[in-house]
Amino acid sequence: MTINRKICPAGLKNNPNKNLTAIKHITIHCTGNYSASATAKSHADYVYGGSGGAQTSWHYTIDGKEIWQHFEDSRSCWHAGDGTDGPGNTTSIALEICVNDKAAFKKACENAAWLTAGLLKKHGLGVDKIVQHNNWSGKNCPAELRSGAWGVTWAGFLEMVKKELAPVPVPAPSNTAPVAPSTPAPPAPAVGMYRVRKTWADAASQKGAFILLANAKKCADENPGFSVFDSKGAAVYSGKTSAPAVNNPSQPPSSSVPPASSSTPPSDVIKEGSLVTIKPGTKSYYPGGPKIPAWVISDFSHRVTQVTLNGKPVAKGGKACVLLGKKASKKTGKESAGVNTWVDKDSLKMA
Ligand SMILES: [Zn+2]
Repeated sequence: MTINRKICPAGLKNNPNKNLTAIKHITIHCTGNYSASATAKSHADYVYGGSGGAQTSWHYTIDGKEIWQHFEDSRSCWHAGDGTDGPGNTTSIALEICVNDKAAFKKACENAAWLTAGLLKKHGLGVDKIVQHNNWSGKNCPAELRSGAWGVTWAGFLEMVKKELAPVPVPAPSNTAPVAPSTPAPPAPAVGMYRVRKTWADAASQKGAFILLANAKKCADENPGFSVFDSKGAAVYSGKTSAPAVNNPSQPPSSSVPPASSSTPPSDVIKEGSLVTIKPGTKSYYPGGPKIPAWVISDFSHRVTQVTLNGKPVAKGGKACVLLGKKASKKTGKESAGVNTWVDKDSLKMA
């Protein structure tokens, strides 16, 4: 999906003109406007025009076709009904899902789930940080999700988000073919991470948290006495030196993985485990693929976590691609869940 932007200027009466104190939650609303013309775009125009002078504003509106952004993620808006200094208005990013077209409501929810998943990743938040407007003020909002009357329940919406967070590429628009098989190779959980510690209880000993089990195992192997725990605290692997009995399918060292393509020598140095950046000015993940949000290029380096799928090189839009399964903040170096998208190798360079 494309995130269309019509960012409100300062000085409007609907603009609190201040930053969020922190980004802690994603707040979900339904617009409650059942007029057929109440699309995401028309709401973008409405908010951009000052919301008719009302102290009403939010960050994104989503319908069955489009996503429109009205305020930067970092800015405070008036949407939660909990006051100018309320935690809803000062610590959450607000999404409004359109109800202008009942037949397209499920698609609108899927689009909102895609956006929500992207925001969770971008801001390092878990699925438990998605809240209803109701959470802040008690208002019956998002009404259609709370009642489930339009075919999508709140639980169903959260499932949509979890699906988006699963280690498959960012979804293509609905009218094009999916960009990956439905059975992705990496055995990663939908949301949880694999943690490497001495014992689960000894959180202070943690060496790292990994999306990919293979990477967690590698870390455990490098640290005698450490084990890999899943998100529920169950030990799933003990390092080589301590417990050889645990299932450890032998894996070739990453250096023996064949390159995905031999046609472009300069990018062939990019292999599994490489830390790369996306070349500035790159518009889409691969020719004809999803558009790359600016922050993906400007704010993060990316870790190549896969170069083949089911043993074969991956090509998209006619270009050899690698999977960027993790990202690392350019500022802090902190690694987190990546964009999980196959990306044209020629758009990448070693970080
Ligand atoms: Zn609301």
